[in-house]
Amino acid sequence: MQEGIHPNYTKAVVRCACGETFETGSTKPELRVEICSQCHPFFTGKQKLVDMGGRVDKFKKKYGMK
Ligand SMILES: [Zn+2]
Repeated sequence: MQEGIHPNYTKAVVRCACGETFETGSTKPELRVEICSQCHPFFTGKQKLVDMGGRVDKFKKKYGMK
């Protein structure tokens, strides 16, 4: 194993647009993200219907709702 061929992998603070911060491993000391596990609809359960549009329509048709 030669030294110096790997990037300096260290602990990084991730800052989300929602204000949430958490630590992860990265080659950079600080990362900025626009969405995280705290505010992502997939994790919060507040899934936006934008992504579900097709499925919602199918669901409504299946159960005769309009
Ligand atoms: Zn967030």
